[in-house]
Amino acid sequence: MDDSRLKFAADEMLGSLARWLRILGYDTTYEKDMDDAEILRLANAEDRILLTRDKDLVRKAKGRGLYIDSDDLSEQLSQVFERFDLVMDEARTRCTMCNGNLAVVRPDEVRGSVPEGALENNDEFYRCTKCGKIYWKGSHWNNILDRLSSLDYKEKG
Ligand SMILES: [Zn+2]
Repeated sequence: MDDSRLKFAADEMLGSLARWLRILGYDTTYEKDMDDAEILRLANAEDRILLTRDKDLVRKAKGRGLYIDSDDLSEQLSQVFERFDLVMDEARTRCTMCNGNLAVVRPDEVRGSVPEGALENNDEFYRCTKCGKIYWKGSHWNNILDRLSSLDYKEKG
């Protein structure tokens, strides 16, 4: 397992950005109600890059922090993409809810837990190993890829 991928810690203003980084396959923590000291401790302890809209917090994070310029999600993603040269890795996509790892599961394992239409149209499902949420690449997946391709986005390989 390649552990050299960047890891992030998003502050409480950056929930949408955190979810997108998880889709891209980046380990990204995001907790509401985490104070500055806690988020700094987490970033240091787990070697995470701190993403924040708080200039004060960036200063405290020293070289470990990135100040996010915009409130707009697309601009935020573009900024982080450019700064760190991010690459999507679908095999590493994480749970958007809790940042857990996803495990591939067969359709018969999720029968009853997902809509019939999803079962008919998909051979592969993913279950979060932490919170149990089930994912599949339905039509929304194309919307995700479209949005990424409108940014400065590079597919892996
Ligand atoms: Zn989860």
